[in-house]
Amino acid sequence: MQLHGIHHVTAITADGPRNAEFYGGVLGLRLVKKTVNFDDPGAYHLYYGDDAGMPGTALTFFEYPGARLGRAGEGMVTRIDWSVPSVAALDWWERHLVGKATTERAPESLDIWDHEGLVTRLVAATGCESVSHAHAPHVPDEYALRRMIGVAAQARDPHHSTAVLKSLGFQHQGDAWRTGSDSRSAVYGLETSDGAISTSGAGTIHHVAWASLDEDHQGWLVRAAEAGVQATPIVDRDYFRAIYFREPSGVLFELATDGPGFAIDEEPDALGLALRLPRQHEHLRELLEQRLAPIPDPWEPYR
Ligand code: ZN
Repeated sequence: MQLHGIHHVTAITADGPRNAEFYGGVLGLRLVKKTVNFDDPGAYHLYYGDDAGMPGTALTFFEYPGARLGRAGEGMVTRIDWSVPSVAALDWWERHLVGKATTERAPESLDIWDHEGLVTRLVAATGCESVSHAHAPHVPDEYALRRMIGVAAQARDPHHSTAVLKSLGFQHQGDAWRTGSDSRSAVYGLETSDGAISTSGAGTIHHVAWASLDEDHQGWLVRAAEAGVQATPIVDRDYFRAIYFREPSGVLFELATDGPGFAIDEEPDALGLALRLPRQHEHLRELLEQRLAPIPDPWEPYR
């Protein structure tokens, strides 16, 4: 039993429409689901990804309108790394993002700050050309973002996490931890924090979810208990099932199943267009449709 890389990463935004313009419009990810936070249905939960929102490509945001900017740091994931197929892709993105985002280039990577300070790193990774991606009308296929291949996080003392990460099957690799194999693996880079206080808020990451095969999920609950973490029971999120716990460095982990996926309540070619509500919140639809700012298809201006 092993985890299969990243399932999704969830961050916080203060502005859903602008968030969709950036991650869907500028970065060319597909908005695959427009729903609400199941635990707080007054807040949007937006999902981006490849054309189907496959595990490993799902980047999600809780929207809290007007939320203050947070400060990423200790006990949090602080950066998301995506693969792109080539150095030429980095060149293209660097040019494409002029005037749209702050960027910083290294030979094999490009760091991108969105308008709320959330950091995305594009990494040139050979061999990922054939990996599924979003087919945005304005992003050439050869440059499109492929998968989330890692996250960076900060801890006061990263060694405190060693035993738990080992029991979850992460393998030490240099300064980081790797889980999964081949095309479905990812790196958890746990760095020592600078000691500054981190605060949750817009532009910070709420949690990272690691991918579990459906049939292993119950086993992961047992494994989490054996590892000594305080895990939630299995929670049904309609599109996947989830277990949550904090690893000893304070970072919120989720273990999420591959299935059933985002096409369970809308057609694959209509993903993300309508507001989808979980059954238990469907009675709130009228109220929510009045309250939530409309989020148009972020690819529409480019068609
Ligand atoms: Zn999650």
